[in-house]
Amino acid sequence: MRHNPSNPQVSLLRYEIREIVDFVQKLQELNPALVIENENIGDPVAKGWPIPPFLKDLIRTEIEIPGDKVFGYTHSRGHIETRKWITQYCKRFSPSVDLDYENVLITSGLGAGISALYHMLPKGLRILQPSPSYPTHASMESFAAGADPILYKLDPLNNWQPDLADMEAQIVAHPEVIGILLINPNNPTGAIYSKETLEKVIALAKAHGLMIFSDEIYFRLVYNDMNFVSITELAHEQVPLVVMRGLSKDVPWPGGRCGWLEFHGTHLDKDYKDYVDSVKKRVLMEVCSVTLPQFLLPKIYEHPDFETWLHSYNAHLEENSRIIAEILSGVKGLTVNRTNGAFYMMPIFEEGVLKPGQTLPIEHEGVRKFVEEKTANPDLPLDKRFVYYLLANTGICSVPASSFFSPHLGFRITTLDYHPDRLKEIYEKLARAIEGYLASC
Ligand code: PLP
Repeated sequence: MRHNPSNPQVSLLRYEIREIVDFVQKLQELNPALVIENENIGDPVAKGWPIPPFLKDLIRTEIEIPGDKVFGYTHSRGHIETRKWITQYCKRFSPSVDLDYENVLITSGLGAGISALYHMLPKGLRILQPSPSYPTHASMESFAAGADPILYKLDPLNNWQPDLADMEAQIVAHPEVIGILLINPNNPTGAIYSKETLEKVIALAKAHGLMIFSDEIYFRLVYNDMNFVSITELAHEQVPLVVMRGLSKDVPWPGGRCGWLEFHGTHLDKDYKDYVDSVKKRVLMEVCSVTLPQFLLPKIYEHPDFETWLHSYNAHLEENSRIIAEILSGVKGLTVNRTNGAFYMMPIFEEGVLKPGQTLPIEHEGVRKFVEEKTANPDLPLDKRFVYYLLANTGICSVPASSFFSPHLGFRITTLDYHPDRLKEIYEKLARAIEGYLASC
């Protein structure tokens, strides 16, 4: 070819949650008898959840409505009636806020919205990312910037709360930072942020002339008597704020692909408003996002069975996280935080307990050779090595913490299993495997 079309920055794109699937595929090719437990991905359908009947009924009814509108394109920025409904839904949780529907953008899954947000930032301007971070954020941000992400620490010894001193230090050290990303409730840690923490972040943003990005895709998944505090309400008239929400996590229909962006405070700053307009323009290039879930969005959330469904879902997630935390807390060398929201947990290995020579027995010769080859690289993070051995030994698929841009070594699991007995079996097996791995050298 006349030129090399491959992008030299591709190494900045990291999504181990899915990349690990290639590793699993290879193991299964080598040993078809290996049973895989997918604890790597936040998909309730994959974890055995039945689809609530009201959701299937709504989908069936919608596609039979005369006129067949759901088979066509919608407005490029999102179905107008649905965007108007989103402004009312926002008000339910943030009563002081009047959001104009023209400041709502619907995208084909929130992932597409996140990409658009970072894509439209002028080269060189940065959004401070949490560490650990949900990889789509840190990857898309760093890819757009053409450089490694700039990170602030979340503290596993303080229930994964943001280290605000570190956040401020990063803002001061990097004048190119123009915004702060919060993920609340958090993926990968399952933490929820307090009003006090959010107020301090707003104060920092205000003092340094920054905007805030708040990914709240899990804001309805909160338990253990915790409350979700709306930053939209707190930041009102204070700082420019982009809120990200979506359908994927509230009902078992992540394949429906529907997310949205809310742009708050566009009157506060002309430059911010210009940026928002540029993101709106970028979304036009995609013609429209998937139509069916856009038409259904208000009907799902307003359905009389929705809140009942959500209540039972949260109760189940609370119980799962309690069981997993109880089992894993008994493992020496591991720091475990109980999950308060979303459906993930990130146990961390204590400093120094992971060592390069550690292994687990792998009976199948082909699999053993493959894992030995994969782990021979001395640069492989030690938690990734653990995750590979765990997979080959037990079939349990988790994701290394280092793949979430974390300085702490550990692994992320989902707390989504539908069957409690199966959940206990999997996590007892995981606990024994960790003990075996740590004791192996
Ligand atoms: N934001 C966070 C924090 C997520 O965990 C996810 C998916 O797991 C997304 C965004 C993307 O969601 P969607 O399925 O709407 O693209």
